[in-house]
Amino acid sequence: MFNGRRSRYWLFFHIVFIYITISFLWWSYLLHRNNAENFREVVDRHRQQYIGTGGDPLRFESTRAYEVIYEDYRRTEWMLYGEGAVFLFLIGLGFWRIRKTFREEIAMTRQQNNFLLSITHELKSPLASLKLTMQTMQKRKLEEEQMRRLGDMALDDIERLQSLVENILLASKIESANFRLNRELFDVSEMVQTIYDRIMDKYQGQRDFHADIEKDVHIYGDQLSFSSVVYNLIENAIKYSGPDAHIRVRLHGDEQNVYLHVADTGTGIPDAEKEKIFGRFYRIGREETRTTKGTGLGLFIVKHVVEMHGGHIAVQDNLPKGSIFKVTIPVGAA
Ligand code: ADP
Repeated sequence: MFNGRRSRYWLFFHIVFIYITISFLWWSYLLHRNNAENFREVVDRHRQQYIGTGGDPLRFESTRAYEVIYEDYRRTEWMLYGEGAVFLFLIGLGFWRIRKTFREEIAMTRQQNNFLLSITHELKSPLASLKLTMQTMQKRKLEEEQMRRLGDMALDDIERLQSLVENILLASKIESANFRLNRELFDVSEMVQTIYDRIMDKYQGQRDFHADIEKDVHIYGDQLSFSSVVYNLIENAIKYSGPDAHIRVRLHGDEQNVYLHVADTGTGIPDAEKEKIFGRFYRIGREETRTTKGTGLGLFIVKHVVEMHGGHIAVQDNLPKGSIFKVTIPVGAA
């Protein structure tokens, strides 16, 4: 998890914290001891005076003078406890904050590294495949059917590059303060159906698809960014499931909201990851060992776009396995 320099900082940070805590406890102990010694000294002095004026030594502790000294001692004790507790609390709070920030920074750096690793691959592999396709077309005399197949492959690669570039652009636009939705009334049913058909066409025979898309569902929203919500959710359902998986897309609406559900019977998402997957660059597992490729931007975009439309997204376990992404978006006012 940590590289050498970070481990050293981490160790140094813990040593400093332990040192501060131990010295604080030591100083508290000394102050406490000092207070007790002081108390004994004052009591002895007053006892001598009391005896000197003919008082009974056994009754000194029930005199008013002793009571005042004792109260003073207790007050100082409580002050030491109180200040000590506040100080310890502040040290603990500071330690917890620094530790949290440190961990967040490490997680962010790891995700950025993952992103760089994945984006390099995501750019390189369709480009290499496109180059190979073009070289084959150039060098060999091909039959019409072969040309068509190669053309399809090239288009797939271009589409992959295009969606990658779109995701990167959209993610950076979303993060900029002046990003505004370009709202208009549009037919979501038509949009979902078109994207669904296109994806189903691409993965024909590789998954079991089913759609339940209500007709004429409209919202007042941003078409371009909303299409990326639909596209990312369906593409993910395919990407994170095997060839025998069932993919279900459901769209329906009522007076207030539009509901889009995308379910798969794929790998599923552990509970501990269900929130994290919406983070920027976040991908489950380590980039070096992962077999599926991606950038960790898809769900980040999906969540932001949905929330910018005033809606929300939730992910649940599907039965017997897989996940269901549920998007709810208010129809909005024109
Ligand atoms: P990408 O797919 O490019 O990695 P996303 O932001 O779309 O990025 O998804 C983030 C992570 O969430 C993915 O890396 C994957 O681990 C997990 N994930 C997303 N959708 C699904 C799904 N339908 N089933 C299982 N895991 C998923």
